[in-house]
Amino acid sequence: MSEVKRNLQDVESQIENVCVNSGRNKDEVKLLAVTKTVDNDKMLEAFEYGIRDFGENKPQELTRKYEEFGELAEKINWHLIGTLQTNKVKYIIDKVYLIHSLDRISLCEEIQHQAKKVDKTIDCLVQVNISREETKHGVFVEDIESFIRKISEEYDSIRVKGLMSMAPFTDDEEGIRKVFKGVKDIATKIDNLNLKNVSMDILSIGMSNDFEIAIEEGSTLVRVGTAIFGKRNNY
Ligand SMILES: *Cc1c(COP(=O)(O)O)cnc(C)c1O
Repeated sequence: MSEVKRNLQDVESQIENVCVNSGRNKDEVKLLAVTKTVDNDKMLEAFEYGIRDFGENKPQELTRKYEEFGELAEKINWHLIGTLQTNKVKYIIDKVYLIHSLDRISLCEEIQHQAKKVDKTIDCLVQVNISREETKHGVFVEDIESFIRKISEEYDSIRVKGLMSMAPFTDDEEGIRKVFKGVKDIATKIDNLNLKNVSMDILSIGMSNDFEIAIEEGSTLVRVGTAIFGKRNNY
């Protein structure tokens, strides 16, 4: 068995174990394979293994791979997980399954504009910046509710499906856990508002180093790259 497939088995069994130990059903947690900088052969191994959700953080790379995959591309759910510049929206609008990085009104404006052209409704997650690190994008906690209300009222081509967040760069497990708990709290609060076109079905939290903590805190989608495909050298 290839290394990628072995790694996938390991990650899946880790996910299953945490689910069992924290009283969750493993079907509640989706594994998103993060494939930035990963070559197509390795992606195909993951596809053969059964993975159908791939995450890219650059629109150009997503578009290129989508085209290189030909007919297979249609069988894959392509997630855009990185910062999205407004001028790149048009390249991915007809390919993307879920945008994880909705974080400003100008981006909503452009997504709405492009979505109308292709007659699509675009599923998005609002990215939350809990740790307030300057390197992180995302909406600050105090602005989340008004941001989501505005989307619900003014952008009918955008469907908010949940929240995405990244843990702080730290080994401090409690610090990471606190961030994830914070995301879950916001989701609960937003869900209770019952806004049109807004649900909190997806909590995209957890990466290679912290997905177990994230699952314990309610993650429904973990974004895992390194633990599946190995270390990236140029990122
Ligand atoms: C690269 C990346 C990941 C995956 O990180 P790993 O540590 O390799 O698992 C997850 N989310 C985002 C937004 C990323 O850019």
